[in-house]
Amino acid sequence: MERSEVQFAEATLAKLKGNYQVDILSDWGYENPDGEWKLGTWTKAELDRLHNAITFVADAMGGNETFIRNLGGVTIRKADMGSHGGEALLHRVSLSTKGTFSSWTVVHEFAHAWDANHGWKLSRLLEKYTGGYTSPVLSLVKRLVGLSDSGLFNPEKKPGRCGRRPGCNAAGYFYGDKPSGSNWKFNRLEDFAESVAMYVSWGRNNDLSNWAEARIKRYLLENGTSDRNFGVDNWTDYAKYFYPEGGDYSKTLRWRFVDDLVQGRIRTI
Ligand SMILES: [Zn+2]
Repeated sequence: MERSEVQFAEATLAKLKGNYQVDILSDWGYENPDGEWKLGTWTKAELDRLHNAITFVADAMGGNETFIRNLGGVTIRKADMGSHGGEALLHRVSLSTKGTFSSWTVVHEFAHAWDANHGWKLSRLLEKYTGGYTSPVLSLVKRLVGLSDSGLFNPEKKPGRCGRRPGCNAAGYFYGDKPSGSNWKFNRLEDFAESVAMYVSWGRNNDLSNWAEARIKRYLLENGTSDRNFGVDNWTDYAKYFYPEGGDYSKTLRWRFVDDLVQGRIRTI
């Protein structure tokens, strides 16, 4: 953060606190009254992006008060987390100091914090609602008999072998209905976070909407085609697992689950 941007930064921090009970651990400012200005890792553009992404989540939830009730207050910090772009725990979201973050990552991590604030029960409810289940034993069987699109204990780095089919992941997570994607790290927690991100983005014409659409449209590509954002995969083969009816994500059980959740039609306590 440049010294000239401090007013903007302070105003944004005040809005985040006042409207959403979100605190940012700032890392810019004077070390001491006579010292040098410390830029820190945050940029003005990032603060802006973060604020917008949180606004989109609150809008999708039906307002600031619901957002505050769902999340119960969150502190955001920047941290070195190796290869992870973000992490979330109860009342805490961390964003990587390596490179910048996307609006998608912010929404994804806030979804985890929402789940955490309900004892990680929301992702269990999603799993059940969509007809999924978690079984490491069945997953191993599937891999042993050659029904997996992965190696025996790892994903392979080639099209059609990354471990995207139901149960073909480290957790043995057999997702039900149609998520917008899956990989070796997929489990009910990631499913919930991605489902919330899709819900917050789909058809709302916000910063994330193009990305949500790109996630769905990739399954219209031929096998072996390279997608600008997602690389090469056997897209046609995966369409039956991930491409929603008529290409409309709001027809999926996941969209309906998050909608039921934010409309208060699902008991969460
Ligand atoms: Zn995640």
